[in-house]
This record gives sequence, C-alpha cells and structure tokens, in this order.
Amino acid sequence: MRILLVEDELKTLHSLSQGMQEQGWTVNTAMDGDTGLRLASTDDYDVIVSDITLPGISGLELCAELRSQNIFTPLLLLTALSDTDDKVAGLEAGADDYLAKPFEFKELLARVRALARRPANTIRTENVLRFADVELDLNAKSVTRSGKTINLTPRELALLEFFLRNPGKVLSKIEIAEKVWDVNFDTGTNVIEVYVNYLRNKLDKGFDQKLLHTLFGQGYVLRED
Ligand code: CA
Repeated sequence: MRILLVEDELKTLHSLSQGMQEQGWTVNTAMDGDTGLRLASTDDYDVIVSDITLPGISGLELCAELRSQNIFTPLLLLTALSDTDDKVAGLEAGADDYLAKPFEFKELLARVRALARRPANTIRTENVLRFADVELDLNAKSVTRSGKTINLTPRELALLEFFLRNPGKVLSKIEIAEKVWDVNFDTGTNVIEVYVNYLRNKLDKGFDQKLLHTLFGQGYVLRED
C-alpha cells in the first residue's frame, strides 16, 4: 500500500511514518501543503493522510484542489482541533474521513485500511486533459493527437501536462523550471528549451496546426494559431 503523509510536526511525521512502514506500507512524506499537493497530483497513492494546519496551503485546500483536479484518492484529515466546524469543512472539501488529535495509532491504521478498501478507490474516474485534438489521460499516462498515440518520456509528459493545465497562457522558462522540474532556474542551462523542442517535435510534427509556440524573450504558449 502506498501512503502519502502530509504533516509539519517532525516528531509526529516520523512516528506515523515509521509505524506505517512497520505495516509494510510505502510512505512518502511532505511537510507542507504545497509539496503534499504536488506529490498527490503527480504520483498514485492508495490513501493520503494530511494534517489540516500546514505551512503553505492547508490540508483542506490540498483536498479541495485535488478534487477539483478530479483526483479522488481517499483522504483522511488530521487535526488538533476536535471542532465540528473543522469536520464539516473537511468533508465539504472532499475529505473521506477525519481524525482528531490526539488519537491512538491503531485507530489511524484501522481508518486508513478502511479507506484503502473502499470500492471507489478501485474505480478510476476518467481523468483526461484536452486541448484542440490533444488528449492526455492522466491515469493511463498516455497521449493522443487526433486519435494517434504519441509516445512521451515522463518528463515530456509532465511538461505537456503543465501546458494543458495552462492553455493560452504564456509560460516563462522560469515558471516551467519551477513547476515541472521543481528547481530554481539556472540561467546557464538550456534544458527547458531542449525539452520544449522534444515535445514540440512529437506533438506538432506531421500536423498542419501547430500548437506549441515560442514567444521569443517571453516563453512558450499552447494555442491554436
Ligand atoms: Ca500542523
């Protein structure tokens, strides 16, 4: 079982993570909401366990954002507050369960197991990004243009996903480096240019309508002209 654990208190993070690994589970961790969201939207997990109060976006926002991206990984929220308002907000944001701190570890394990068993977890919702005649299936990690399969490397796929999530928007190299490579932009490298060219060759070659355009000095844009 693959678990994503989002918790900003180091001690809690370590003890929960260790306890889950002792169950034979694979645990990825994040200490802030933004990292949690990035992991949750790029990797597949059986269950996400997230604290509510986090640096960056909160556990509630993380949950709402995932659901808006049509990612329905079962999510359990942890909170220090046993406040019913929090519980209602959590469920409204699309969380599947809720556990107030302090809790017994075995209680958490039982809840996580129950979430992982849910049939909803095995029925994958359609999760497709579309632009013009391009389709990216986020579940199958496959891309077609006009029904023709385009084979992309994982990095090219991530790059295309970023363009598909921002159609018509000019994306600078810095933005692309941060969002797709998760690194600070080093002006000495032309890696973005190289990858955009790889992607363009696969996406636009052989098609009359070019979709991936370079705006010199500004960046790149996905649009139909
Ligand atoms: Ca916290």
